[in-house]
Amino acid sequence: PDIPEDEMKELENKIELEELIVQEEKRISSIEETKKSLPVFQFRDELLRSVGKYQVLIVVGETGSGKTTQLPQYLYEAGYGKHGKMIGCTQPRRVAAVSVAARVADEVGTRVGDKVGYSIRFDEKSSENTVIKYMTDGMLVREFLTDHDLAKYSVMIIDEAHERTLQTDILLGLFKNLLKKRPDFKLIISSATINAKKFSDYFDSAPIFNVPGRRYPVEIFYTQQPEANYLSAAIITVFQIHMSQKSSGDILVFLTGQDEIETMAENLAETCKKLEGQIKEMVICPIYANLPPEQQKRIFEPTPKNARKVVISTNIAETSLTIDGIVYVIDCGFVKENVYNATTGMESLEVLPCSKASADQRAGRAGRVGPGKCFRLYTKWVYLNDLPRNPTPEILRTDLTGVVLLMMTLGITDLVHFDFMDKPSTKTLVKALELLYALGALNERGELTNVGIKMAMFPTKPMLSKSLLASSELKCCDEVLSIVSMLEDTGSLFVNSKEKKEMAKNAHASFHSKIGGDHLTLLQIWDKFAESGFSPQWCHDNFLQYKVLQKARSVKKQLQRICRRLGLLSDGPHESEREPNTTALRVMKAITAGYFSQSARLSPRGDTYTTLSRKQPVLIHPSSTLHGAVPPVKLIVYHELVMTTKEFMRHVMPVQGKWLAEYGRNYFDKKDLL
Ligand code: ADP
Ligand code: MG
Repeated sequence: PDIPEDEMKELENKIELEELIVQEEKRISSIEETKKSLPVFQFRDELLRSVGKYQVLIVVGETGSGKTTQLPQYLYEAGYGKHGKMIGCTQPRRVAAVSVAARVADEVGTRVGDKVGYSIRFDEKSSENTVIKYMTDGMLVREFLTDHDLAKYSVMIIDEAHERTLQTDILLGLFKNLLKKRPDFKLIISSATINAKKFSDYFDSAPIFNVPGRRYPVEIFYTQQPEANYLSAAIITVFQIHMSQKSSGDILVFLTGQDEIETMAENLAETCKKLEGQIKEMVICPIYANLPPEQQKRIFEPTPKNARKVVISTNIAETSLTIDGIVYVIDCGFVKENVYNATTGMESLEVLPCSKASADQRAGRAGRVGPGKCFRLYTKWVYLNDLPRNPTPEILRTDLTGVVLLMMTLGITDLVHFDFMDKPSTKTLVKALELLYALGALNERGELTNVGIKMAMFPTKPMLSKSLLASSELKCCDEVLSIVSMLEDTGSLFVNSKEKKEMAKNAHASFHSKIGGDHLTLLQIWDKFAESGFSPQWCHDNFLQYKVLQKARSVKKQLQRICRRLGLLSDGPHESEREPNTTALRVMKAITAGYFSQSARLSPRGDTYTTLSRKQPVLIHPSSTLHGAVPPVKLIVYHELVMTTKEFMRHVMPVQGKWLAEYGRNYFDKKDLL
């Protein structure tokens, strides 16, 4: 039949629309089905009744039972999001906050930042419409600064409480006070493992709600001999599973950090390419804190038929993220952690054996969809005798300077008597107070100064905040902002190309600063990046990670905003344009103003360094521009320590003794500086 064209169009549109509706209905019904299949669903009403009845509730359940994604939705459906109040849920890890928010937004049928939002350091997606907000525990601690009573929230879920991160522990203490002030407020503490009793005791015998999960048996395999290199052992194990196990089923590998994960991902990809056609397809998905969100999503995409997914993760996949379809787990048996020595005041990142509890959690990830297998890259003897039973709460193994400053700002001055779940040592608290005094954040009487109040406004460590404040006085705020933004943990900036090794090396060397070490090298990179118009091509040509610089750019913008608000940054022409000759020196002084306590002197033999205040041996990290400098730099400050075979200083800058004497006058003894 001859249908007129416009009628035809209309008909087509109608069919298209109908198809869309059918698709949407399908999507919704599949979401509904998934939601109903989760173990928590059967306890929905009982849970809500308990929340109504008690002010504090401890919820315990297996990973994957639906605590993180479902609880906030139940609370929302029950009306906790009414009267302009929000439902909050904290996560110890940034990746988890972002990824869970995306998932829940999808389930609720909204965009991230609308009804469901998230807030992590240097990245916030929420609006007036937001009723369910996921955030890192650290961000919630900061919210206390502007909203003492958390008036915006009707209920807060402290999720993954068993992780016992520093910020979660601080939150628990802050909530203990808040609950008395706000009888209408509800607190839910959610935890994966069985140490729930401790939380209950802490909150005056709060009731524990158990969500029984389903779990299939997991067969455990150990290596016969200790593995000299767990990375290569992991790679070999992946291929052994991939080629010998006929059935489908994805693999989850636990390693300790981004570098390892990327190395392994590259290696797997290369080998797969060589074996193309001879083996089944492998979908390789790395996951770690600094991975951009688009790539994070990939780990949740269904595995194509006839392929096998290999997820390579830090301990984030231990309990924070649930990936369906995992049948095989490979566990390296290690974890990267902060280690703090209160005697020396030195904090460093170390790779250490993980706890038995962690190893068991990791193994458990293989038994969610059916019986699974876990390959431990260590011996049974090590598991039984060498691994500590439980992880140490972070508050007992970290520097507390930042936390002490925040708590003082919140009016908590008597830290020694604060009701911590696990009390940090007095030594650690005293160290923090001493450094805050030396930085000028506290006065002789231990009271917060104006400088301290300003420092607390920055979401950065106190030493970095102090450098920013000093840079304003030294008229180099913009420059120090660039450096600070690049020093914030944004990932590895330098691309090490295997094929073009020389070219990459030369490109990187062209940025080296002769006088200012790594800090001014970063500044040179920033300036050239800005000159290029923030061009991805420029980064590519210079063997630099575009996404790292892009992230630094966003960090800088946000720190800039705080500086403007505090009146630290003038809008006029850059100060450096007026006095270009002394810029480098002024920048270095500003960095010293924050980092004098992390200084080291070349030993008389000229091969190692010792820290100024505690006389500890340290070395310059091989990645530093000052590594192997001729002649070696005599006096330096460092940004951080990493412990591998020895204590290495990463990001190092030369300093002058008189700067240390000036900025560290309340820190050093006279003899330290001789
Ligand atoms: P719990 O917090 O109890 O460990 P979750 O609420 O995180 O459990 O997860 C419940 C289920 O939701 C998981 O089994 C998984 O299928 C699904 N899920 C969670 N996050 C995502 C995501 N980002 N993408 C897809 N599915 C997800
Ligand atoms: Mg969870």
